[in-house]
Amino acid sequence: MKKILAIHTGGTISMSQNEKGEVVPNSENPIAQQETIMEGRVELITDELFNLPSPHVTPVEMLKIKERINRGEREGIDGVVITHGTDTLEETAYFLDLTLPSTVPVVVTGAMRSSNEVGSDGLYNFQTAIEVAADDASRGKGVMVVMNDEIHTARYVTKTHTTNVATFRTPTFGPIGLVAKGHPIFFQQLIRENICDIDHVVDHVYLLKAYAGMDASLFGALDNDQTAGIVIEGLGAGNLPPVTLPAIQRLLDRHIPLVLVSRCYNGVAEDIYDYQGGGIELRKMGLMLCQGLNGQKARIKLLVGLSAGLQDEQLAEYLSTAVS
Ligand code: ASP
Repeated sequence: MKKILAIHTGGTISMSQNEKGEVVPNSENPIAQQETIMEGRVELITDELFNLPSPHVTPVEMLKIKERINRGEREGIDGVVITHGTDTLEETAYFLDLTLPSTVPVVVTGAMRSSNEVGSDGLYNFQTAIEVAADDASRGKGVMVVMNDEIHTARYVTKTHTTNVATFRTPTFGPIGLVAKGHPIFFQQLIRENICDIDHVVDHVYLLKAYAGMDASLFGALDNDQTAGIVIEGLGAGNLPPVTLPAIQRLLDRHIPLVLVSRCYNGVAEDIYDYQGGGIELRKMGLMLCQGLNGQKARIKLLVGLSAGLQDEQLAEYLSTAVS
C-alpha cells in the first residue's frame, strides 16, 4: 500500500463557519481528523505542521514544508499532499517546485468553502489530491495543484476568483490533466526547471505593479541597501511609463536585480517595443525578462535564485527559463 504524507498548514480547508456566518480557524483541524478517508487504499501519515491562514504564510513557512517533505522522503514515503489556504497556495506550490529535488508526487490542495458549509469542497479536494499523489502516473511531474477535479502545474496555476470553487486556472497553457473516477489522466507535461535545493531564504524581495500614470515614488522607496531584488509587472508585453526610468536606473546602479514580467493575465513578457520605456529599452538597461510567470511566481523564483546565491548572468539565465 502506498504511504502518503499529508501535511496540513491551515487555510479555509481547515476552517469552519460560526453562527454569524464568519469563516474562522479551528483549534482542531477538521481535515486532519479524516484519517480514514482512504482506508484500505493508502497509508496516510498525518502532520499538522502549522495552522495558518495563507496570508500569514511567508517563505520561512514554505521552507519548513520543503524540509518536512525532504524528511518524509528519507523515511520512504511514496507521495505528499499539502493542504493550504488558497490565497497564497500558488506561491507555496511554486516555491516547492523550484526547491524540491523530489521525484515522488507532491500535490497541493485547498478549499474555497470551509468544512461545515453546504457544498464544502475541502474533503473532496483532499481525497482527490491523495488519489493523484498515490498514482504512479503522477511521478516526475513536478509539484501539482489539484482542485475541483483538475491537475495544474505549480509553475503556471493561479487563483482567478475570490469565491468560486473553480478558482484555480492556468492561463495560456491550460491544466496538465484531470481526475476522473479516482485516477489522474494526464495530457501534457512540463520540462522540469533547475532545482535550487536551498536551506535558507533571503528577505527584501519586492513586487511592484505598473499602472497608467505610475511615477518614480515606489522605485525611490526601494532605493536602499536592504533591497535584494524587485519584480515589476510591466504594462502589456513588458513596458513602463518613461517617468520611472531614472529611478529604475538608480536601482540598477546599485546592482539590485530587476525582473520584468507582464501584468496581463495571458501571454508572456517580450521586448517588442522600441519607444521610451518600451521593453527593448528596458532590456538594454539591464532588466531581466521572465517569460510566462505572473508577478507573484516571478518573485518566488527571484527569491529562490538569490537564496541559492545566483548572481548576474547565472541569475538572468535561471529567470529566463520559465517557458520551455
Ligand atoms: N483566506 C483563505 C486562506 O488563504 C482562503 C482559502 O483558504 O481558501 O487562508
